[in-house]
Amino acid sequence: MSKSKIVIGNWKMNNSFDEAEQLITDIEESLSDYQLDTEVVLCPPAIYAELVTDHASLEDSKFYAGLQNVSEYDNGAYTGEVSASMLANMDVDFCIVGHSERRKYFGETDDIVLKKMVQLLNQQLIPVMCCGENIDERKSGNHFDVVQKQIEATIYKLTPEQMERTIIAYEPIWAIGTGETATPAQAQEMMSFIRSLIERKFGTEVAFYTYIIYGGSCNASNALNIFSQPDVDGGLIGGASLKADEFIKIIEAAETAGKEN
Ligand code: PEP
Repeated sequence: MSKSKIVIGNWKMNNSFDEAEQLITDIEESLSDYQLDTEVVLCPPAIYAELVTDHASLEDSKFYAGLQNVSEYDNGAYTGEVSASMLANMDVDFCIVGHSERRKYFGETDDIVLKKMVQLLNQQLIPVMCCGENIDERKSGNHFDVVQKQIEATIYKLTPEQMERTIIAYEPIWAIGTGETATPAQAQEMMSFIRSLIERKFGTEVAFYTYIIYGGSCNASNALNIFSQPDVDGGLIGGASLKADEFIKIIEAAETAGKEN
């Protein structure tokens, strides 16, 4: 049994409105030539949500709309926040949570990550939950422990039904935006470990169907080797998702890898 891959573009805090519109149009035009099995998700800054949902809602659209963050709270007096019900209202389907940049710069703890995931799941959105170790944790050999703790504090608190609607992104922090990618073997080793953690808690079938994707300096040159690993179900792409040509090549790699395994 095989499953198609997923490629998610995380634009972070980049692009003017015009640049965002151009990028979406370029990706849309390029993808119109393809008959894709790979799922594609674009996660622009929240203020451009409508831009991406407008395009994603077109009948022949080849991508889904996602965002990069959501409030842990319901609606109400939380100045500056955007709730999961607002995302649902805007027809956003996916949302990244627990990205290492949010953990580092905005104090997002595992508790907060869990609350955000539950908010999204309650609104029928798909959380893309990021986990991963920093360079010191990798060098000291603690990377498996670190990731296991993150999974236990978040994913393990979900019901099986919620787990089935959740994507896990393994993003070694030392590889994010650094140009240094995990080797395919390093990615496979960790992602098979994560799948074994899911299996232990939720059983073999849920573990098989759970999407576990890789993020960290993934680009057109290394994507195929990484995506061809048996436990790598696709990629969360930062910098390389800002260039339509490069992003399309990564989608092509996912498509090829999806047909191989
Ligand atoms: C990310 O931000 O999720 C990411 C993987 O970034 P980059 O591809 O730029 O390393």
